[in-house]
Order: sequence, then structure tokens, then C-alpha cells
Amino acid sequence: MQFVLHAGGAFAPGPFQAGRAVGSSSPRRGESEGGFASCPRAFCGELNRVNGSRKGLVYLLKSAHNQRLPQCFGANDRFLSMALIVQKYGGTSVGSTERIRVVAERVAHARQLGNRMVVVVSAMAGETNRLFKLASELCETPSARETDVLVATGEQVSAALLTIRLQALRVPAISFLADQLRIATDSNHGRARIKSIDPSRVVKELNADRIVVVAGYQGVDELGDITTLGRGASDLTAVALAAALKADACEIYTDVDGVYTADPNICPKAKKLKRISYDEMLEMAGLGAKVLQLRSVELARRYRVPLVVRSSFTESEGTWVGQEDPSMENLLVSGVTLDQYQSKVTVTGVEDRPGLAARIFGPIAAADIVVDMIIQNASADGRTDLTFTVNRDDLARTLELVQRVSAEIGATGVRHEDQVAKVSIVGVGMRTHAGVAARMFEVLAGERINIEMIATSEIKVSVVVGLKYGELAMRSLHDAFVDSADFQLPEETV
Ligand code: ADP
Ligand code: ASP
Ligand code: MG
Repeated sequence: MQFVLHAGGAFAPGPFQAGRAVGSSSPRRGESEGGFASCPRAFCGELNRVNGSRKGLVYLLKSAHNQRLPQCFGANDRFLSMALIVQKYGGTSVGSTERIRVVAERVAHARQLGNRMVVVVSAMAGETNRLFKLASELCETPSARETDVLVATGEQVSAALLTIRLQALRVPAISFLADQLRIATDSNHGRARIKSIDPSRVVKELNADRIVVVAGYQGVDELGDITTLGRGASDLTAVALAAALKADACEIYTDVDGVYTADPNICPKAKKLKRISYDEMLEMAGLGAKVLQLRSVELARRYRVPLVVRSSFTESEGTWVGQEDPSMENLLVSGVTLDQYQSKVTVTGVEDRPGLAARIFGPIAAADIVVDMIIQNASADGRTDLTFTVNRDDLARTLELVQRVSAEIGATGVRHEDQVAKVSIVGVGMRTHAGVAARMFEVLAGERINIEMIATSEIKVSVVVGLKYGELAMRSLHDAFVDSADFQLPEETV
């Protein structure tokens, strides 16, 4: 992705130009090679490695609710204020006018502390689902373009309401939709990818001392049509803006107070992590931990955006997501995830000869459907079964495509199970520890849970199980790996 940035950096020229300590005062993330990096304490180690020393760098992110935030102190102990912070508030956080009042106060307070604020909002809780449902009541397969026009309105409402409240508090603020900020995407409606962002208008408004409120989840394509970026993608809007603006931090406010070792709403023994590496978070998000949207983590990793997940309901410190650091390696399993939205498809009696897998998966890929696990059974009679999983939303389209190809290639049939769950354990420590998968299978066997499919990567093991066993599998794996004495978490877990 290419970001269109102002010449001379995001904040030049303008009233903030009077030098780093006054204007573009907080060290910019992109400047880490030159001796500066915006660095929460969790990542000071990285700064040391890059620069050899923390030369003269003092940096304190001032937060609305928590002034004991990560700090890095340098030789001359200067204090730099006026960080640029991108905050994102999810659906529950802006779920009512009462909640919007609370958010406005938090944002106003952060500004009062001297921070420059960009605030990305989601639609009010339940609103996006409500809009999808309205469309489906009128048409079985509403067009993707019109669906985007419809569902993007949720974020427009929240952005305007938050800005109205900020203005009522006499805090200068202005709201924007994606096309006003040129959040340019491809035309893949419903799951569009951001191609570029032109932050010049945001910069102009920040320089005029206004809070910039942005409607998340949406973009605009080459034709000027509204697109949406995929479910949960207000996170992506926030990270993309933070990258484009070289923000000092991107704070994701939600209904839990950080990233836990498992979904705390399913696994009561889940523990909050103080920090987690981009790689682990990427695996967890990809495996169903919806606390951060997958592509937002990808982008944060690529542009080294310091990311923190916090609750908009409490003052708790949250979880930092960043570069892997040596102490993280002690974690064998940092998380257990559950994805309850998977479906399983089996093409039976596929002739065992070159090219047929490509014939089956080619059209699925062309339809932009993500296939997750794939298993090909060995067969004695020259025919084989191919089983794979897709997201449940993509099942109907997948079956249509596969049934067509299956007839063409002379396969004997297509079976599917529309509700399966994928349970995974994730941890960088797995790279160097043997026996994790075997232990996982033992634990599931102990609960008499049948494993239908298995997939492994360097830092994860995933299994597909019947949907009704998903939560039990998650809890028992959490007990075995995260909660047990054998697999103690090190100090950074609170
Ligand atoms: P928002 O609307 O604020 O974007 P989401 O519902 O998208 O919030 O994400 C927050 C939810 O993510 C939590 O309520 C929790 O149930 C779920 N979740 C799943 N896995 C985890 C995890 N490992 N840590 C924290 N929350 C998790
Ligand atoms: N409102 C959108 C959704 O529900 C985007 C988001 O909440 O991040 O998916
Ligand atoms: Mg979300």
C-alpha cells in the first residue's frame, strides 16, 4: 500500500512547524533510523537495538484516561508533549448517546492534555447487522454496490454524533467520510482493499487545532463509489490513518480491556496480556480472535504502527501489540482462539491425477473466497477425497462453484457441513518446543472431542471440531496450556 504523504512530513508546513519540541513535537515512528522512535516502554528494547543508545529521546504518550502510560526516558530527560494519537471506538463504545457522551469526554480530555487527536468510529452496536438484514428482507442477493451504500451509513451516523457532542462541549471538532479524506480502495465491494490515503485534509484540520473524527469501515473507489473494507474494518481505517499520519500510537477502544489469552467472554480463566507480538496477534486475529481485525494487524506490522487495545469502559492499561522482544519468547502458548464461523466442504471421488486440485480451487480463488485448511485423503483405487474449510458467509457461493467443477471433472459428489469450529493454539515459543501438537491432541481426546482436520504452522496448531465442541475445546486447551503449572506465563501477563 502506498500512502500519499505531505512533502516534508505530515505536519509541515503549519503552525506546528516551530521545531520538534513545539510543533511536530513527539518523535515520529518513521524516524527510528534517524535516532527517534515513538516507543512505548514495551518496545524500548527495540529502540536500543536500532540506535545503540536512547539518544536524548524522552517520550511520553499522554492519554485521556491513563497518564501512567509507557514512557521512554533519554539522556537529557526532556519531556515531549503533543503526541499525535489515532483512537478508534468500536460499536459498543458508541452504542448509545450515553456512551457517545463518555467517548467525547475521553477524547476531549486527551486533547486537553496536549495531544492531537484523530478519532475513528464504528457504527453503533448492532447497526451494521440491522442494515444488512434490511437489505436481505428486500432481496435475497442484494448487489454488493448498493449494500455498501447502505451499510456505510452506520459509521456516518456515529461520526456526526460524536462530533456534535464534542462541539457541545466546546471542543473544536470536524467529521469526515472516506471520500472526503480520499481513502482510495479497489472496487471489491464488501471487502475492498485500501490503496492510498491522502492525509492532507486531516493535517490541515489538526493544524487548525481541531479534533478530526473519521467514519471507519469505508472507502471510495476510482469511480467515486462508496466501498466497505470488510466486517470489523474500522480497526483497519484507524491503523491506515495512523500509518499515513505517522501517528505516535493507534489506540483501539473496545468492550474488553485488552488482548487476552483466550476470548474472556468464553473462557473465564483467560488472562490479559500486557503485550503481544505482531506475528502472534496476526495469527490470533486470523484464527478468530476478533478483538483486532486481521488486516489492521497486517498493516500495523508492515508500517510498525504502535498499537494498543484498551477498554472504553475502564481505566485499565490495555495490551500493546508490537515487535517481538526477547522476553516474549518464553511464552509457549500465548493464546487459544476459536472461530465458530467455519464450514467444511468435501469433494468426493476426485481422480488422483495432476491438475484437478487446481481446477477445483482456481474458480474459488477467482471469486476471492479464502480457503483455509485443505486435506487430501490418500486413496487406493485411484480416486481421492478433497476436504477444505471456508468462512460460513462464503459457503453458498463456494458450493455453487464446486458443484459445477465437480461435474466437469467427473468427481462423485460434494458434501458439506455448514457449522464447524476451528480451535487453535498460538505462540512464538512453539518454534523451539516439540510436542505441543501431541499434547493438544491428548487434551482434546481427554474431553472425547473428535478432531476432523488439523493444520500447523511455525507458531500455531489448529484443529477443526464440531461446532458444539468449540467452546469446551477452547476452555480445556486454555486450562492445559495457559493455566497449568507446566505452561506458566511469564511476568508480562497480568
Ligand atoms: P468492537 O465492536 O469494539 O470492534 P469486537 O466485538 O470487534 O469489538 O471485539 C471485541 C471482542 O473480541 C470481545 O468482546 C471479545 O469477546 C472478543 N475476543 C475474541 N478473542 C479475544 C481475545 N483473545 N482477547 C480479547 N477479546 C477477544
Ligand atoms: N460496523 C462495521 C461492522 O460491524 C465495522 C466495524 O465495526 O469495525 O463490521
Ligand atoms: Mg471489532
